[in-house]
Amino acid sequence: MTASNASHPDCDIAIIGAGQAALQTVASLKAGGFDGTITLIGAEPFLPYQRPPLSKKFLNGTFERDRLFLKPESFFTDNAIHVMLETQITDLDTAAKSLTCANGKTISFAKAVICTGSRPRVLPIPGSHLENIFDLRTIADIEAMRPLFKPGARMVVVGGGYIGLETAASARQLGVEVTIVEAAERVLARVTKPELSAFFHRLHRDQGVTIITDAQVSGFAGESQVSGVTLANGDFVPADLVVLGIGIVPNIELAETAGLAVDDGIVVDALGRTSHEDIYAAGDCTNHPNDLLGRRLRLESVPNAIEQGKAVASDILEAPVSYAAIPWFWSDQYEVKLQIAGLSDTAHTHCLRGTYESGSFAIFHFAGSQLVCVEAVNRPGEFMAARQMIKEAASGRIYDVAKLTDETVKPKSWLA
Ligand code: NAP
Repeated sequence: MTASNASHPDCDIAIIGAGQAALQTVASLKAGGFDGTITLIGAEPFLPYQRPPLSKKFLNGTFERDRLFLKPESFFTDNAIHVMLETQITDLDTAAKSLTCANGKTISFAKAVICTGSRPRVLPIPGSHLENIFDLRTIADIEAMRPLFKPGARMVVVGGGYIGLETAASARQLGVEVTIVEAAERVLARVTKPELSAFFHRLHRDQGVTIITDAQVSGFAGESQVSGVTLANGDFVPADLVVLGIGIVPNIELAETAGLAVDDGIVVDALGRTSHEDIYAAGDCTNHPNDLLGRRLRLESVPNAIEQGKAVASDILEAPVSYAAIPWFWSDQYEVKLQIAGLSDTAHTHCLRGTYESGSFAIFHFAGSQLVCVEAVNRPGEFMAARQMIKEAASGRIYDVAKLTDETVKPKSWLA
């Protein structure tokens, strides 16, 4: 690579990051006929891969590493995409339109897309340096912890979010003894309402998981390896390994230092454009407007990364298609498939279709009379309908609660 040169940049598009949003941007550019040069820069030693299976099938051993990759190596070679792995970008110069790598190399660009994602939150307490304490975010994390997932091994999971619960389910399937320590009063508190938290609490308890809520971890015990977790109330939970799932922090520092607008994420518009005309951003690291919901969001989800990647590519291809979608999420734990459409944070009332006891139900959440979120457990039909229904509800459509809860009324008919 040569030094920055505005008239002859090293690449037409530099993509910083090699996760889901980055890969989608590249794939959509190529699908749209983009014939300029693309450089894809990732900090990890791997081509873009899916993270969702990490805490599920990759951890419980039913998914091989090769199945994680979003595209085969041939996709990058056939499309002449210059891939730089194990490369950390340390500086973004917006005036010179160039990037500096940790090894001092510079890469100049015509346009850049920041897809830096997010990183696990750290727990700065005594003993956090001990061996056998793991984050769960990368292939390397899983490959380091998996040998310890043996029947009878004692694992403490700190955090009862998606990572914590999915890791607990995978571990139980391998015979590991699991304790979850959650700071909030219930599991999944950030992402769901109390009814669903209660369902997942019971599900895990019935599978033999111990869940301790309202609990702060004050330290980790052990000589070189962790031997247990001390709680703020003085209780001690023995452990052969600890997995931390206490949330993520968006990687915004590169953009912030470069002077781009940042406000709980890199500020972008519905096409992923940042405050600099030649720089875009997509994925977990962004804060974007959602016109359907009438507010700005920072979302930590795969569908968001995919849709933002598409929007960015469409603008670069000069055929802009703005991103406006009802957010959705999913989680697999044991035999339970959870699918959530919409956001429940503004909701105050709900109604239930099916029963919690049957393990097959859908909870419809309302803000006033507006349907804003549906939490579906083993109910794919309800979930599929819900995505469209919530979109229409945002434009004023009101649904009849009696029809939503009546099992003889099919989900498809709600959309008629
Ligand atoms: P998360 O959903 O934010 O959950 C973290 C949980 O840990 C929260 O309930 C949090 O409580 C709790 N916590 C924070 N500090 C704690 C402490 N010191 N001790 C005990 N508990 C503590 O994050 P995550 O589960 O770590 O997941 C990381 C990211 O991956 C998220 O973006 C998540 O959405 C994503 N992910 C998604 C899926 C999926 O969609 N199926 C699966 C895996 C991961 P407070 O809220 O009170 O801080």
